[in-house]
Amino acid sequence: MGSSIETRRALVNERGSSPSRSRLLTMAATEEYRLVSRELEPEPTVIEVGGRRLGDGYFGLIAGPCTVESREQTLATARAVAAAGASMLRGGAFKARTSPYAFQGLGREGLEILAAAKRETGLPLVTELIDPRLIDEIVEVADVIQIGARNMHNAILLAEVGKLDKPVLLKRGPSASLDELLMAAEYIVKGGNGRVILCERGIRTFERSTRYTLDIAAVPVLKQQTHLPVVVDPSHAAGRRDLVLPLARAAVAAGADGIIVEVHPDPDEALCDGPQQISTDDFGAFVRELDELVRLMKKQIG
Ligand code: PEP
Ligand code: MN
Repeated sequence: MGSSIETRRALVNERGSSPSRSRLLTMAATEEYRLVSRELEPEPTVIEVGGRRLGDGYFGLIAGPCTVESREQTLATARAVAAAGASMLRGGAFKARTSPYAFQGLGREGLEILAAAKRETGLPLVTELIDPRLIDEIVEVADVIQIGARNMHNAILLAEVGKLDKPVLLKRGPSASLDELLMAAEYIVKGGNGRVILCERGIRTFERSTRYTLDIAAVPVLKQQTHLPVVVDPSHAAGRRDLVLPLARAAVAAGADGIIVEVHPDPDEALCDGPQQISTDDFGAFVRELDELVRLMKKQIG
């Protein structure tokens, strides 16, 4: 498609409206991500998966371990988050770690453990795809495919998940602008997969008291720009568990459609991201506190 005003006018006219010239000019910013743009689709996208909903009044509470370390650890976490009222289970089997010497996940064995956790709890599963060669294995067990922050710019991976009939949770790269995130989402939607959830997970700044800096303004800005649901990952943004609840609250108050949060039965012994994982013992109270705010925002956990 071209980038002229005529093209934009034609696109908008297809949807039955007739915008003014100044309106068309303001649409220039959305030129590179038109399919995800609110200009062309004002109705919010709701993601429905395994009887759960996320978006437009339904708040997705996605929780689980950072990484599958063992059957016991994963099942204990899955049971705890299900009992506390989570809407989906998260957990990584193939991890894209910053250091090549860090624990890279249990791989295929991890996927089998996640499948067992899913069978037992009935929770839809969110797990990360780091390599197009693993698509078949991941698709078999995942209900939502996570594209991690490090892969947000991986156009080949984005195009691959664009061909799938599965929702995708797309995390913002630590140094990516919101426009770049929206363009990454556009790759997926352009491929035919419209079920994309955007995730703000903190960006790289000079501040050192948190692992990343949660860009809370990303939530209302993205909600203005796109019809896609927006969730927040307070765990990776904070990097410390004492800040996860305040950041999660900020996400709810800013209008997020959900959060994705890390939980572990014994965070101090975790093989990955221990300092930021909430203990399974504390997770019930965490959900109760958050749920009050979710209701205040006239939403419900989906
Ligand atoms: C994760 O959610 O497991 C993860 C690795 O996060 P990110 O891609 O945001 O660093
Ligand atoms: Mn993690």
